Amino acid sequence: MGDRQMLPEHTVRMEKSLTVTPATRPNERSDAAPAFHIQPLRKLRRTFGRLGPRLVPFFEAFFLGKGIRPMTRTTLVAFDLDDTLAPSKSPMDPRMSRLLSELLDIVEVCIISGGQFSQFKMQAIDNLPDSSSSHLDRLHLMPTCGTQYYRFEDSLWKQIYAENLTEDEKARALAAVEARAKELGLWEDETWGPILEDRGSQITFSALGQAAPVAAKQAWDPSGEKKNTLREAVQADLPDLEVRSGGSTSVDITRQGIDKAYGMKKLAELTGIPLDDMLFVGDRLDENGNDYPVKALGVRTHAVDDWEDTAAYLEKLIPELRNATL
Ligand SMILES: [Mg+2]
Repeated sequence: MGDRQMLPEHTVRMEKSLTVTPATRPNERSDAAPAFHIQPLRKLRRTFGRLGPRLVPFFEAFFLGKGIRPMTRTTLVAFDLDDTLAPSKSPMDPRMSRLLSELLDIVEVCIISGGQFSQFKMQAIDNLPDSSSSHLDRLHLMPTCGTQYYRFEDSLWKQIYAENLTEDEKARALAAVEARAKELGLWEDETWGPILEDRGSQITFSALGQAAPVAAKQAWDPSGEKKNTLREAVQADLPDLEVRSGGSTSVDITRQGIDKAYGMKKLAELTGIPLDDMLFVGDRLDENGNDYPVKALGVRTHAVDDWEDTAAYLEKLIPELRNATL
């Protein structure tokens, strides 16, 4: 095959029926170098009998020698929660539950969000199919951007770790945000539940309380000016911590550098799965969105508008991943 062109547009045919296809899937990085993947082992086996699997390293070495890298595999798919798997603050639809269950049959799955475990439970876990019918042991839960980590072990969701703020950090954060909010006239009298919440790894200020109705929240600070003013004032008081404006009425205080990229790096450490083999799906991958740090980290991403969009994407992705599984 010496005179055969080795970087074709679509397909290289080698030997008799072994086909090596360049990576052209929509979820692949478009700027990637030419890539290949060897057809699933069972097909190699059909062609070459028991010798098939042993030939894979030789084909790989051959292509690497030509400067063609192996195609990225996807062995883990990570999802944002709100507006990606479920409507904001609401339970997941049965259609999404069925798709997640199908996906868990093929790959590892992670859900990562800024929210608390209780939110994961209400929106996702309580609506997942029966543990006996799906691989819940392949599901990785990362509340509060991966500063907490949960796995399904012995039929229970267990917290594996939580990186909480120290008592001193919490006390300073609570004091600063309360003092500045009062000073700026942003400490409301009429609220739906407490304004301040200790989430362990995060202190959250919610101007109208945790349980405020959506309409009231949206009306409170439509321009984002109040939140930003408060954020800046509190940040000046807490130079060693990170202060961010969160939801429509909230300001969050965490350790520095805690975002979804932090969580994804933790996930790679914990699972041993390289970031290159992961795919992230989220609704806020735009530059100002809370999913953007994952994209900036270099993880392959797929942007969606809402959970229905995610469902439609999974209906295409699942058969693709199933075919690519050796
Ligand atoms: Mg979201």
